[in-house]
Amino acid sequence: MDIHEYQAKSILAGYGVPVPRGGLAYSPEQAAYRARDIGGNRWVVKAQVHTGGRGKAGGVKLCNTEDEVLEAADEMFGKRLVTNQTGPDGKIVYRVYVEGGVAIEREIYLAFVLDRKAERIMVVASAAGGMEIEEIAEKEPDSIIRNIVEPAVGIRDFQAREIAFGLGIDAGQISQAVETIKGCYRAFRDLDATMVEINPLVLTSDGGMVALDAKMTFDDNALFRHPDISELRDKSQEDARESKAADRGLNYVGLDGEIGCIVNGAGLAMATMDMIELSGGKPANFLDIGGGATPERVAKAFRLVMADENVGVILVNIFAGINRCDWVAKGIVQALQNNPVGVPVIVRLAGTNVEEGRKILVESGLPVVRAATLGEAAERAVGAWQAGTQDTAKVVAE
Ligand code: GDP
Ligand code: MN
Repeated sequence: MDIHEYQAKSILAGYGVPVPRGGLAYSPEQAAYRARDIGGNRWVVKAQVHTGGRGKAGGVKLCNTEDEVLEAADEMFGKRLVTNQTGPDGKIVYRVYVEGGVAIEREIYLAFVLDRKAERIMVVASAAGGMEIEEIAEKEPDSIIRNIVEPAVGIRDFQAREIAFGLGIDAGQISQAVETIKGCYRAFRDLDATMVEINPLVLTSDGGMVALDAKMTFDDNALFRHPDISELRDKSQEDARESKAADRGLNYVGLDGEIGCIVNGAGLAMATMDMIELSGGKPANFLDIGGGATPERVAKAFRLVMADENVGVILVNIFAGINRCDWVAKGIVQALQNNPVGVPVIVRLAGTNVEEGRKILVESGLPVVRAATLGEAAERAVGAWQAGTQDTAKVVAE
């Protein structure tokens, strides 16, 4: 789960990371009011959307008067901000954050990520901040510092100092940098984050240090341990299909092919997609119904998969260990009887109660194509899709 910049800053501030003074606004007037409250004569108005690259897309505006703050905010509200990270649909701005302007001396990149290969948290830092890490990797690859944290001891002072020295931070600011690095690490660990990114971490002209931008991502599977973090979720920033599925306890991934896949388990989902590709087709999405799927859940899964208008065929592939094939079959029947999908449905069931499951499908009289193996299921699904497109082609030709 992603959160907004202002939320990440508030969390990190609680861990000793220095952040500028700021206030959230839901209207241009409120933004101007925030500016007055912050004081000074220079402010930054920042669109709160779940994406980076806002600066280049008009989502970060420097202002010198309260009127300019109001105008900048007015310009942003309701706008669909399209950045190099959002895709063409962009993200709509419903909140802006107003901050006191900072006199930037130097911009540093500092991030904490999960290094799956090392199975450790890794610090990634670069003195060439301000640009995105992909750009740094391309233009200044040698500037990137990577440092792995031993989980048993956490990040040590000497380690944080080593990173700070590597970034060319002056002796006078080292202790501040150490506190910032350690604070980010503690926030990452305590809150089950998968990423903390401060870009830029700024050295100011008066010798201070401040996190000018902040981004945090959390492990969805650990959110149950952090109700206060779960509350920060902003659905207006998520893919509607994926958040709808998540609300129903289903894992949905949207893709761009034509075959909708309902499976249980991530491994089986991968195998199913490979088999579809091998048979000459392309998956439109996959929906993992997980273990212990009740008929209601299966019916919901059908509705979600069919909500994608590119779906021309549905392939259900269940290997029931914890699941039960008869439940899944009941769900399929329930779903298709209540909402006929109008596309071919191919079903492969294996595992617990498979005979009962097959019986339910046969007795339902529904035009469901059954398959015994995964290979057969994929071939039939692709075959049905090709036949469907040929039919359409024929109609068009006639
Ligand atoms: P992003 O583009 O979404 O990553 O948004 P950032 O918060 O990183 O802002 C983009 C850029 O705007 C930063 O790299 C800074 O160069 C600039 N910026 C943001 N806040 C300030 C500020 O208070 N003062 C100055 N001078 N520049 C700022
Ligand atoms: Mn940034």
